Amino acid sequence: MNHPGTSGLIFREPELWEKSRAGRCAVSIPGSDVETAPLNQEFTRDDVDLPELYEVDMVRHYTRLSQWNFGIDSGMYPLGSCTMKYNPKTNEAQASRDALASVHPLAGEPYTQGALKLMYDLERQLSAITGYDAVTLQPAAGAHGELTGMLIIHAYHEKNNDQRSKVLIPDTAHGTNPASVTLCGYEAVNVDSGEEGILTPEAVEAVMDEDTAGIMVTNPNTLGLFERNIREIADIVHAKGGLVYGDGANMNAIMGIVKPADIGIDVMHLNLHKTFSTPHGGGGPGSGPVGVTKALEPFLPVPIVEKNGENYTLTCDRPDSIGRLHTFYGHFGIMVRAYSYILSMGAEGLKNASQYAVLNANYLKESLKETLNLPFDKPCMHECVFNDKKQQAYHISTMDIAKRLLDYGFHPPTVYFPLVVDGSFMLEPTETESRETLDQFVQAVQAISREAAETPDLLHSAPNLTKVTRLDEVSAARKPCLKG
Ligand SMILES: *Cc1c(COP(=O)(O)O)cnc(C)c1O
Repeated sequence: MNHPGTSGLIFREPELWEKSRAGRCAVSIPGSDVETAPLNQEFTRDDVDLPELYEVDMVRHYTRLSQWNFGIDSGMYPLGSCTMKYNPKTNEAQASRDALASVHPLAGEPYTQGALKLMYDLERQLSAITGYDAVTLQPAAGAHGELTGMLIIHAYHEKNNDQRSKVLIPDTAHGTNPASVTLCGYEAVNVDSGEEGILTPEAVEAVMDEDTAGIMVTNPNTLGLFERNIREIADIVHAKGGLVYGDGANMNAIMGIVKPADIGIDVMHLNLHKTFSTPHGGGGPGSGPVGVTKALEPFLPVPIVEKNGENYTLTCDRPDSIGRLHTFYGHFGIMVRAYSYILSMGAEGLKNASQYAVLNANYLKESLKETLNLPFDKPCMHECVFNDKKQQAYHISTMDIAKRLLDYGFHPPTVYFPLVVDGSFMLEPTETESRETLDQFVQAVQAISREAAETPDLLHSAPNLTKVTRLDEVSAARKPCLKG
């Protein structure tokens, strides 16, 4: 069988200090012909414990360490809900252009017209994609966008002298949703999804009241299912004076197909680092722009980019604004990547990306549903959720399957989330994987399923071929060794 995994050429790599030999050095500088003058310093080079190495030792050390890493440039990364798509290198190249990468946030408007124009245009591109009247680029991540949206909803009710205390959140929600609601001072109220894995108007009707500020919905939801009742649900919430917040982290499924503003969602964030091509997952910077309807525009955070004639300016003159979210203007480098991605894809290209993302997820779902249990057996959007029900007969869990995938050269999917499915195994292949790669992945899961019956020990100890094998997670949590 043909899998990308292999155990060859994985080096043992000691610390630099272990490799150090007295007298070695990486770069030797010619002796100085200027008379030396002693520095007035408290310690010398000899007081500092630095390793002594040749240049080649150091280069190999860091190159080998970098090879232990796994990223989207190494292989398929089907981490559900995270949209780990391949990011075209041209977007990186644009963001690295000196003229954009070295703009200083204090340079002043006369010197930053290009950067301001880019932000202004990106806001309008995102408006066109989502259908919102206005967009802010300020929030630094999806969760930050959620908080921004919640603050906007809070400001809206305050302006109407109608402050409320609760927000509805479905049981399929990402953990950041209740966190953002709580941070904003609201109480998060759970709404159970129906038997089909989506919200029912009846369930929302039962809990929606005039002390509820709104509902937070992810569409498509984290089961990869489209919330088909969204319009009816929005009507129920609006009728009681509430607002609808959309968690747009799953926008990759619906670009160019559904405009969230058209289906009753009043305010929504996007994750530029997920949907619009920024490498992510290592805790680097993100960007979570928020789109709003006309009624919510006055509450957007400041500063706001405005266009006066041919000039772009930043204004803070918005009396109803929720204020600043942080210093300066958001994560500009990520805006450049998104701008470049949107322009290079074009409207038709973005729509195709979503269609292929959905096609790939359905291909995986159909290819694996004989092997893994599929709790919701119907067409999915950009991701699908299985679980370990079949493998439990052999005492094999989702965790064992996920870890064994590493031996086959694949990053595991998201596991044990969403919480509404026991032992969930959540796959999001994205549009950028080829048919051959998807087939390799399917074969790997099928092989692992056979191993579950025949050689379960291989799964219990997995991963067996990686640099670091199965970690004792209990000890790691109870007795953390934080020193390295
Ligand atoms: C990723 C994600 C978030 C949070 O976004 P961050 O950019 O990681 O803060 C929120 N909701 C859903 C559904 C997500 O997948």
